[in-house]
Amino acid sequence: STAWNNYLQQLKRVEPFLDESIRDRLDFLRHPKRSLIVDIPVEMDDGSIQHFEGFRVQHSLARGPGKGGVRFHPNVDLNEVMALSAWMTIKCAALNLPFGGAKGGVRVDPSKLSKRELERLTRRYAAEINLIIGPQKDIPAPDVGTTPQIMAWMMDTFSMNAGNTITGVVTGKPVHLGGSLGRARATGRGVFVTGSEVAKNIGLDVKTAKVCVQGFGNVGSEAALLFHEHGSKVVCVQDHSATLYQENGIDIPKLMAYQQQNKGSIQGFSSSDEIEKDQFWNIAAEIFIPAALENVITEEIARNIQTKLILEGANGPTLASAEDILMSRDITVVPDVICNAGGVTVSYFEWVQDLASYFWTEDEINQRMDKIMREAISDVWQKASQNQCSLRTAAYILACERILIARIERGIYPG
Ligand code: GLU
Repeated sequence: STAWNNYLQQLKRVEPFLDESIRDRLDFLRHPKRSLIVDIPVEMDDGSIQHFEGFRVQHSLARGPGKGGVRFHPNVDLNEVMALSAWMTIKCAALNLPFGGAKGGVRVDPSKLSKRELERLTRRYAAEINLIIGPQKDIPAPDVGTTPQIMAWMMDTFSMNAGNTITGVVTGKPVHLGGSLGRARATGRGVFVTGSEVAKNIGLDVKTAKVCVQGFGNVGSEAALLFHEHGSKVVCVQDHSATLYQENGIDIPKLMAYQQQNKGSIQGFSSSDEIEKDQFWNIAAEIFIPAALENVITEEIARNIQTKLILEGANGPTLASAEDILMSRDITVVPDVICNAGGVTVSYFEWVQDLASYFWTEDEINQRMDKIMREAISDVWQKASQNQCSLRTAAYILACERILIARIERGIYPG
C-alpha cells in the first residue's frame, strides 16, 4: 500500500459524515492542484556530476498559500510527496491556519553528502522550485532529513534571486535569521500537549505510563523528553540504527547527549539493552509514539499491539485498515494531522513574525501554541463523540468542511 492510497482510504471514511452539499466536492481533495518534478544536477566534491530527483506538490491552495516541509530521504517519490502534501492541507485546515497544503522532497540520502554537496543540492533544488514558492505562494519548512541550516540556504537562494532579503519564504529557519523561538521543539511539544489531553479523556495517567518511541529525531526526541520530564517511563526508543530497551525507563536527557556525540545515532548507549528491531511493537506499554516514517502500523501490528494510546508524531504511520482494527480494540489514535501540528502552528507564527518584522517571546509562542492545540484536540474529541467515529475521521470532517466550503464560495474558474 502506498501513502497516497492510504490518504484516499482515510478520505473515504469521511464521506458518510459530510453534508450532501459538500460531499460531491470531495473529489477536489483527491486531485493535487499542482505537481512539479525537477532534475537537480549537483557537482560532487570529486568533480563528478550526479543527478537527483526533486518534487514540490501543492495539493490545495483553496484557503491560502501552500505550506509544508521538504523531505530529503532515499525513498522520496511523487506518490509519497502527494500524500504528504494532502496531509498538510488537512492539517492546516483542522488547526484553522490560513494555509493550503504543500510538500517537497528530494530523493537523496543526505548523510552520504558532504556539507558543501548538501548546500549545492539544496540551492539548486530551491532555484528549480523558485517559480512556485514565495511568502504569498507556498512556504517550505523542515521535514525528515532537513534542518534549520538547509532552510537558511533556501531562504538565501530565493532572496539572492529576488535581489532582497525575503525571510518569509520558508519557516524553520535559524532564530537569528528570522526564525521563531520555540519552532525547533514545537512538533514534539505538540505531541505531548495533545497526547496528555487525550490521555486525560481516556483516564490514562501520564505519570505512571510506559512509553515506546519510534524515531529519535526532531519530533521523537522532544516528545520522549517531555513525557520523561512528566514522570512517564520511556521504556523503548528505536531509531534507524538500534532499538533500546530499559524496563525502568531510559534516561532521555542522557540519551540525547549521547546521540549528539555519536553522529546522530543512538546505537551503543550503555544505560539500556539493545533488542531486536522487530520486538519494538511487541512491548506492552500504555503509549506508543511512531515518530519516524509512514505505513509502519500494519493490520498485523494493529491486531497484536498491547497499548491504549497511539500518538502519531510521524505523518501517515497508520494504515487505514489497521486503524479500523485498533478502533475495534478500543485503542485510541491521536492522528498526525492534529498530533504533530505543533510544528506547522509555530511555522505559522514564524511567517506572521517575518511579515510583521516583529518578534514574540518564547513564552508568548508556547502559550499561543498550547491554546490552539488544546482547542483543536477538544473540538476533534467532541466531533468524534458526536459521530461515534475515530479522532482522525473527526479531524477530517472539520478540515473538509472548511476547505470545501471555501472551495464552493470561490467557484470554478473560468465560471
Ligand atoms: N514538516 C512538518 C509537518 O509535516 C512541518 C511543516 C511546516 O512547518 O510547514 O507538519
